[in-house]
Amino acid sequence: AEKLLEVRKLTAGFVTEKGLVRATDQISISVDKGQTVCLVGESGSGKSVTSLAIMRLIDYAGGMILEGNINFHGQDLATKKQEEMRHIRGNQIAMIFQDPMTSLNPVFTIGEQIAESLQLHQNKSGKEAMKIAIELLKLVGIPAPEIRAKQYPHELSGGMCQRVVIAIALACNPELLIADEPTTALDVTVQAQILDLLRKLQAELGMSILLITHDMGVAAEMADRIAVMYAGAIVEEGTVEEIFNHPSHPYTNGLMLSIPGFEGGRGGELYTIRGTIPPIGQLPAGCRFHPRCPQAMEVCRQQEPPNFMVSDDHRTACWLFKDHPAEADDRDEVRR
Ligand code: SF4
Ligand code: MG
Repeated sequence: AEKLLEVRKLTAGFVTEKGLVRATDQISISVDKGQTVCLVGESGSGKSVTSLAIMRLIDYAGGMILEGNINFHGQDLATKKQEEMRHIRGNQIAMIFQDPMTSLNPVFTIGEQIAESLQLHQNKSGKEAMKIAIELLKLVGIPAPEIRAKQYPHELSGGMCQRVVIAIALACNPELLIADEPTTALDVTVQAQILDLLRKLQAELGMSILLITHDMGVAAEMADRIAVMYAGAIVEEGTVEEIFNHPSHPYTNGLMLSIPGFEGGRGGELYTIRGTIPPIGQLPAGCRFHPRCPQAMEVCRQQEPPNFMVSDDHRTACWLFKDHPAEADDRDEVRR
């Protein structure tokens, strides 16, 4: 399959009173054309920082990229000027967030907001843009789009508003949609409808999706590949089948057990991993998960595990797999 996005060893950080802190650590992840990749982890694991870094919106949040590459169509987004990034954000990569209300402007009708995006990014005339806006509202499953187009955000439910936000994202005809917890603020039935919509749009439009979620159940339903993040790093990555059939990292195992009703789960009782994620800039020595890991060994307290290949298409950063080959990128490290 054709690679659309390839993030390599991306480290991003923030300047604080205490100096520079690293918020993500050498993130490597790639998304093929038409594929959905899920970035999964508890809140505070660095998922949102990763997506903001890929979009280079991190520059506006007091952060910066410290090392690594973001290859998108043969160009490195990590070193682009903001002027160029604005063009890419308007035309090739779109992003949607958890709370649709923060993305919508209360004083404009939803038709005007979609049309504005079309006029801005696709040079459409006002009349033409409104016509396409109504088409887009239809595409995202909003009934009576001609009427809805004339309404304001507060006249629509949360689920309908998220559909509008998706329509705005689609207005730029993106090749990649980055969705950060797009259903977390919605109730369960609406959540399922929005996920269905994303799947349907992907099948129709062929776009790629990078979906950020704390919910393993959502990832199971949506992902072709899953990357599990913990304390700023990807600790396990592989195809959805590999991750669910052979979860390898103890942190992933913990996340699995917390899925209600999942096989091996605690009889529907919500299992929570003991302890909490260390705050950024305060990582323990060795394996970043060792203070919470039920299987921690002596080596785990001292040496950070490299990525080991569980199978050809599945890596885990855990010493329990030290008999497996290390990932190509990490081989030198292991030899040393
Ligand atoms: Fe647990 Fe050690 Fe694996 Fe870290 S490297 S997850 S502490 S077993
Ligand atoms: Mg987040």
